[in-house]
Amino acid sequence: MEHVDIAIVGGGPVGAALAAGLQNSGLSVAILEARSKLEAPDPRALALSQGAYLILNRLGAWDTLAAHATAIESIHVSQRGGLGRAVLTAQDVDASALGYVAEYGDLYAALAKRMTDCGATLLTGARVNAVQATAGYGMLRFQHEGVEKMLTASLVVLSEGGKSLPAAMREEKDYGQSAVVCTVKTQQPHAHRAYERFTPEGPIALLPLGDDYALVWTTPNAQLEARLALSDAEFLAHLQSAFGDRQGRFLAASHRAAFPLKLALAAASASPRIVRIGNAAHTLHPVAGQGFNLGLRDAWKLAETLLDTPRDRIGETAFIQRYEKTRHFDITGGSLMTDILVEAFSNQRFLLKHARGAALILLDLVPPLKTLFARKMMFGAQAW
Ligand SMILES: Cc1cc2nc3c(=O)[nH]c(=O)nc-3n(C[C@H](O)[C@H](O)[C@H](O)COP(=O)(O)OP(=O)(O)OC[C@H]3O[C@@H](n4cnc5c(N)ncnc54)[C@H](O)[C@@H]3O)c2cc1C
Repeated sequence: MEHVDIAIVGGGPVGAALAAGLQNSGLSVAILEARSKLEAPDPRALALSQGAYLILNRLGAWDTLAAHATAIESIHVSQRGGLGRAVLTAQDVDASALGYVAEYGDLYAALAKRMTDCGATLLTGARVNAVQATAGYGMLRFQHEGVEKMLTASLVVLSEGGKSLPAAMREEKDYGQSAVVCTVKTQQPHAHRAYERFTPEGPIALLPLGDDYALVWTTPNAQLEARLALSDAEFLAHLQSAFGDRQGRFLAASHRAAFPLKLALAAASASPRIVRIGNAAHTLHPVAGQGFNLGLRDAWKLAETLLDTPRDRIGETAFIQRYEKTRHFDITGGSLMTDILVEAFSNQRFLLKHARGAALILLDLVPPLKTLFARKMMFGAQAW
């Protein structure tokens, strides 16, 4: 059994960002990643906020990613069957872009490269199946090359996405919806404009990606199978009627994939030696594209807290509480905001429909409100 200062369980995008943030820290870091190759054939495209861009830049991942990222210069927010719309632009916040869109695989490749180069010990094909904490250290059991192994660490960081280890600490809410994702071609060029359109069935997001749009179409689970079974022409016709013609006709759609949508939040850590970051701490609805951005801020803040802590205090209860306190407002604010957007914008109640319309008109017409909203989307709930 070996011992390290920091054991990172899950070298996905968030775990990789933490490893990169700890380069030159003088701490011994081990990353255990279940995948045998650092590749992620994942059909998702992610909206990266301006805040995420700044962190990726500081981590040295942006240079690799830049060629694959598309800037978002404006966001059009509207509701189907109701008045009101708001347009947020980069000028509203004096920035060159509100954010960027990249395929999950490209983002992961950029961060995985930094993880590989950062000097940490990286074990691929290492699946952790048990985590325990004592007052003095955390302990991991994992399978690697067919052998059961153990590792102890002053701090165990769970960044495994929240699905594969016992989820006893996560409270979950099932939205009864799935996200149908693919890319679509539209008649009019995207001109770097993203859309968030709320419909009674759930939000539709169009994110500029290369010359196309990445589509995230929230679909009630009862309709999912039928929607996935549609031919391209039928799918495009349904999308056209749900989204409208702001971008002209929808011309083509790529292969569709679906992700079930849940809200899951980890309770504050009950034991020393273990922290959760990224999806392992909070899994959000993709409306407003916040999940990875929030996870990246976790990784950044945890790296900062580690660099600011004497080595022999790392992982103690006081350390865990200090880190969790710095993240509490951002995580609670982000998850509440996405949950409210889903619940308040996905129904046809008469009064609510008009209240939503009024909120969108207000957002569009009051510049300080618009700036505040845009800043929260870019830098998180704690931004003012
Ligand atoms: C449809 C959809 C659209 C989205 N759009 C956006 C968006 O626009 N913007 C945004 O910010 N976010 C978005 N998100 C959220 C974003 O995808 C996630 O927040 C992000 O991928 C979480 O990264 P992670 O590293 O925490 O977890 P993951 O990406 O799940 O990575 C976990 C890693 O841990 C490894 N692992 C798992 N179990 C083990 C184990 N037992 N032992 C060792 N390794 C293990 C896995 O192989 C993986 O590499 C979206 C999500 C969905 C579903």
